Amino acid sequence: MQVDTNARTAAKALTDFIKASPTAFQATAAMQTRLTAAGYTRLNEGELWQLQRGKNYVVTRNGSALIAFRLPAGELQGFRIAASHGDNPNFKLKENPEMTGNGGMTRLNVESYGGANLSTWFDRPLSVAGRVIVREQHTLVTRCVDVGRDLVMIPSLAIHMNPKVNHGMACNVQKDMLPVFGLDATLKMADVVAETLKIDAGEIMGQDLYVYNRQAPSIWGASQEFLSSPRLDDLQCAFSSLNGLFAAAPSEHQAAVHCCFDNEEVGSGTKQGAGGTFLKDTLIRIVLGLGGTMEDYYRIVANSLMVSADNAHAAHPNYLEKADPVHRPRLNGGVVIKHSANQKYTTDGVSSALVRMLCEQAGVPYQVFVNRSDMPGGSTLGNISTSQVSLNTADVGIAQLAMHSACETCGVLDTERLTAFLRCHFESGMTAETDGRFRIAEESHDKD
Ligand code: ZN
Repeated sequence: MQVDTNARTAAKALTDFIKASPTAFQATAAMQTRLTAAGYTRLNEGELWQLQRGKNYVVTRNGSALIAFRLPAGELQGFRIAASHGDNPNFKLKENPEMTGNGGMTRLNVESYGGANLSTWFDRPLSVAGRVIVREQHTLVTRCVDVGRDLVMIPSLAIHMNPKVNHGMACNVQKDMLPVFGLDATLKMADVVAETLKIDAGEIMGQDLYVYNRQAPSIWGASQEFLSSPRLDDLQCAFSSLNGLFAAAPSEHQAAVHCCFDNEEVGSGTKQGAGGTFLKDTLIRIVLGLGGTMEDYYRIVANSLMVSADNAHAAHPNYLEKADPVHRPRLNGGVVIKHSANQKYTTDGVSSALVRMLCEQAGVPYQVFVNRSDMPGGSTLGNISTSQVSLNTADVGIAQLAMHSACETCGVLDTERLTAFLRCHFESGMTAETDGRFRIAEESHDKD
């Protein structure tokens, strides 16, 4: 297999984004920087929105979720939405995290955030990032922080003292996963954060700080066909969605909407998660802001399509028996369309047909994922989001191995393919005519 320069350039850009995004706060900031540099106007949820047709906007919530949208020059008839998430399983620092006195070493008290594969976090350089709330005279200001150097480590127990470790190991977060911070019992995590931000530690009034994997992403394999990195799930989809938005040609009647939510890994049930009202509030404000009514909102949502983009399981060569006997997604096999009879994935016959049509238009291969019938599988944000904004939705993703490991693996070609598919989705003029009937002609034909 030949991996061309384009794919390698795209993979490099993805890894730059991931390195700059240790938590959802940095991912949101990085996306917002790119969007505003590209001319997107920043909106604040607490202010009046004065929207104009043909213009582009970006809004954030909690500093950890972002929605960017391009308004059509003509009458708004539908939303083309892509949703992903910017958080990933890791460890959150508890308040006053320093634990001193064990063998003279200070450790940090943490709790798990989401469903990490805990054993993969041992024996690798880790750091701390997130946000702190700082008192500056009469204001409280949120500051993103990334310590950005090898800071902590979770050493494993030597095999000599745990001879059965290779038969499987139970990891208890409170016992086994506490990162070692230093030998100086007087040093506080707040001092390190304060030094990073060049502030006084006493000014820090609140914090949301997480331990993250510092390992650099790597392209590898006999033909350099693989990419391994922390946080592929779901920054790879977020990155593809954003690039798809930038690449999409303006639509005459459809608004392209890129959303990246927080807290997918803990069930999405927060104000900044897919279970909150961020998307619904934003879509309503778009319709009303363009002079429409709530009746228009319901009509436009009914004519819309959402793609929930979250990475998918590739069939693992050492554990093929864990995959469905027929549908076994491959790395570099193209966009994965996820199905689930119990609707953990939102894809159904209608949205699947729409996605396959778009893949064909984009010229990208697609493949199917379903769980083995005796395995429950994971969950994602599509079905949670539809409880707030109910519309035709499909779950897609990029095939990857080792999901929720500290380091995950995908194919180098698939970022570009998901980007091409989402570009087509954003610029498509496909519209619903009645329930279950869609016009798939290009928008240019709409004027006839
Ligand atoms: Zn995910």
